[in-house]
Amino acid sequence: MKKAAVIGFPVKHSWSPIIHNYWIKEHGILGEYKKIEVHPSDLKSLVISKKEQGFSGLNITIPHKEKATEICDELSESARVLQAVNLITFKNNIIYGDNTDGDGFVESFKEDFPDINLSSLRIGILGAGGAAKSIALSLSKENPKKIFVFNRNIDRAEKLLEKVNFHAAEPFHIDDINLKKLSFDLLINATPVGMAGMTDTNFINFKNIGGIEFFADIVYNPENTESMILARSQNIKTMGGLGMLLYQAVPSFESFFGVRPEVSNGLKQHILEHIRRVK
Ligand code: NAP
Repeated sequence: MKKAAVIGFPVKHSWSPIIHNYWIKEHGILGEYKKIEVHPSDLKSLVISKKEQGFSGLNITIPHKEKATEICDELSESARVLQAVNLITFKNNIIYGDNTDGDGFVESFKEDFPDINLSSLRIGILGAGGAAKSIALSLSKENPKKIFVFNRNIDRAEKLLEKVNFHAAEPFHIDDINLKKLSFDLLINATPVGMAGMTDTNFINFKNIGGIEFFADIVYNPENTESMILARSQNIKTMGGLGMLLYQAVPSFESFFGVRPEVSNGLKQHILEHIRRVK
């Protein structure tokens, strides 16, 4: 029996088990995927015990993504640059750390807009946290025309860009999204604004942004955020965060269970039903 789990603190909010158990069933795999809550002080001993118990690997979620890099024997290029892992695999007695969040965003964008080449776009990213950093790194590999990063704490935006080290990038304060007459083709919300339960639902004045054609929100609950609804009212094409959530899970499932799963409409419907149930 192949075993894997997501570890976090708290972890009850994680949807990873729903995704992985859907694929386990779909592929008739003899396997299990659980969620395990672990306090930061017990992180290392938990990871080592799961390796010794023969687990294939673990997904790592908040707040362990940075700390978990210290436990890994080897890191992928993205995990090394970001100093954060969301996937650990145990292979030949080695603990290997990877970060698949940003590639999940890029895959999802390519699925939704197959005719658009990211290299032709000027891209704005709102937020400079873990998700924004991972997205900026993956986008930089697509060589877009420009990446702008907006954050309340501008130091964090500057640090993000130092790490990503992309030649055509600029940090801004988050207020500049509405104050400066900037123009981009794609704007990405990588802050939690708009998430179910948050009082802030939107801070973007889409009318002030020149040339914007696409708006992507990485928030996946609700399925349509306030910002997405406003963007669509300005004829901007939108993408929600569900695709990123599903695509970042694909390489994890493949390393845990040996099959590359598909992000099918059936899976999307399964998750959307879950979102509607927990609303
Ligand atoms: P994080 O590391 O805590 O970073 C949060 C970022 O949002 C920071 O840049 C923070 O700015 C900014 N922010 C927070 N509240 C804000 C507000 N009220 N107004 C403006 N900016 C605000 O979090 P994260 O891990 O990057 O996650 C961010 C969001 O993405 C969460 O909602 C998460 O659920 C979602 N997410 C989705 C996926 C997916 O697969 N779709 C994957 C990962 C994350 P400061 O630095 O100034 O505090």
